[in-house]
Amino acid sequence: YPDGNGFELKTALSARLGVPTAALTLGNGSNDVLELVARAFLTPEHAAVFSEHAFAVYPIVTQAIGATARVAKANPPDHEMPYGHDLAAILSLIDGRTRVVFVANPNNPTGTWQKTAELEKFLESVPESVIVVVDEAYFEYVEAEMDCPNALRWLDRFPNLIVTRTFSKAYGLAGLRVGYAVTHPQVADLLNRVREPFNVNSLALTAATAALDDFEHLERSRAVNRDGMKRLLEFCRRQGLAWLPSAGNFLCVDVGRPGREVFLELLKRGVIARPVDNYGLPRFLRISIGAETENARLIEALAEVLKS
Ligand code: PMP
Repeated sequence: YPDGNGFELKTALSARLGVPTAALTLGNGSNDVLELVARAFLTPEHAAVFSEHAFAVYPIVTQAIGATARVAKANPPDHEMPYGHDLAAILSLIDGRTRVVFVANPNNPTGTWQKTAELEKFLESVPESVIVVVDEAYFEYVEAEMDCPNALRWLDRFPNLIVTRTFSKAYGLAGLRVGYAVTHPQVADLLNRVREPFNVNSLALTAATAALDDFEHLERSRAVNRDGMKRLLEFCRRQGLAWLPSAGNFLCVDVGRPGREVFLELLKRGVIARPVDNYGLPRFLRISIGAETENARLIEALAEVLKS
């Protein structure tokens, strides 16, 4: 069996993040951690609040519990962060039944993010009895000038804060499934009570522990992403395509026609992008930044499809 307590990985994370090991909960991907949050805090009598166009797992875990999902209107298209989370709208939906709020920062599939001051003000405004999940799956890709905060800084001030992270993105370990939550130790205790004892397998634990020390890989991931993003943005500019601001490793592009049509045409050319009509963004296509040759192939195929 794996180490059910993930001793080595927690010790390494604790040292890296400057938090006690008792603040950590490991998951089979951060997806698992989001599910633990729902199982620990939601019931059919309670509600979760999140934004339109937010990561799809929030409604799924809420529905699985039979809890109520309250969906806040997103920012309008002409906003600085079009289709991004409107924290005031989220706040206005919090009431006596609300137990959990999900904020993806940056968000998938939009790529938009909440800036430091607005997120801090939001945390100050949410009642202490409501858990706020700040999902930082894409945290490692964030550039300093974006002013997208590391929410760990607020853990001491807000015992109701849960920060989730993952080894799936910049660390490249999505197939092994390992993510984690950083919380107040009492919150970690509750999450661990509903956690399967061996939810993270031995190989994933070992790989994640090693990955934490592989600074070179992390830097390369970030550099490849930065460079690929630059090329994709240049392509969009040349094509006159609009896109949503992105702090992640993908770009949500307005393809000016049903995104699903473009998706199917790209598929015929061996390229997979993601239509996001199911996210209420029918004219957009979410394009992941890949390796250099993959990006070049996407650009070539997309140019061809958009010409027709
Ligand atoms: N949060 C967000 C915002 C995501 O986009 C994803 C993956 N698509 C996850 C969490 C879950 O990732 P994982 O389970 O691989 O850690």
